[in-house]
Amino acid sequence: MSEFILAVDVSKIPDGGTLEIEGDPSLSEIETPTATLPLRAPLSYKIRLSRNKEDFFLFGTVSTVLEYPCARCLESVDLAVSGQVEATYKKPPKRVVEEEIELEDLENVIYYEALTLDLSERVIEAILVEIPIKVLCKEECKGLCPYCGVDLNQVAEHHCEIEASVSPGRLFNALKPFATEDRDTNDNKNDR
Ligand SMILES: [Zn+2]
Ligand SMILES: [Zn+2]
Repeated sequence: MSEFILAVDVSKIPDGGTLEIEGDPSLSEIETPTATLPLRAPLSYKIRLSRNKEDFFLFGTVSTVLEYPCARCLESVDLAVSGQVEATYKKPPKRVVEEEIELEDLENVIYYEALTLDLSERVIEAILVEIPIKVLCKEECKGLCPYCGVDLNQVAEHHCEIEASVSPGRLFNALKPFATEDRDTNDNKNDR
């Protein structure tokens, strides 16, 4: 997922005891399945691990600043994100059916194989789930001109030459043979 590893040896935590770890590794980016997100600030975490017999409970906070594109004008935005890590690490039962593990996973229960836990995925996940569906550089961002692509935030009053050159009638005739492309063009005008 990334070059970031946060391995913690929990074998030293006594039963009933806790271990607090914190740090701010300066990662350059976070890889997601669909994008590479540059970081504008260290990925800082503060996590408390507590032990109850063979179980380990993880609770903590994570924060960073991501470079993220505005959904309307594509300008890069400094997006401050903070999230929570919460998980339970359990010793695997003697015999476990694979499917069972996957179900438990959804409830933040993880079966550990060794007493060195790599918490990096938990930390990255905590950040990724907090990214809003739609990031805007500012609430009133005007976006891009759907005809020529000029950033409408930068131009006080945009009189688009391309838009003017395409009168509605001509546009309709020009697009008629491409009914499906017509739909695509309209989609592009919408916010993403
Ligand atoms: Zn914008
Ligand atoms: Zn334009």
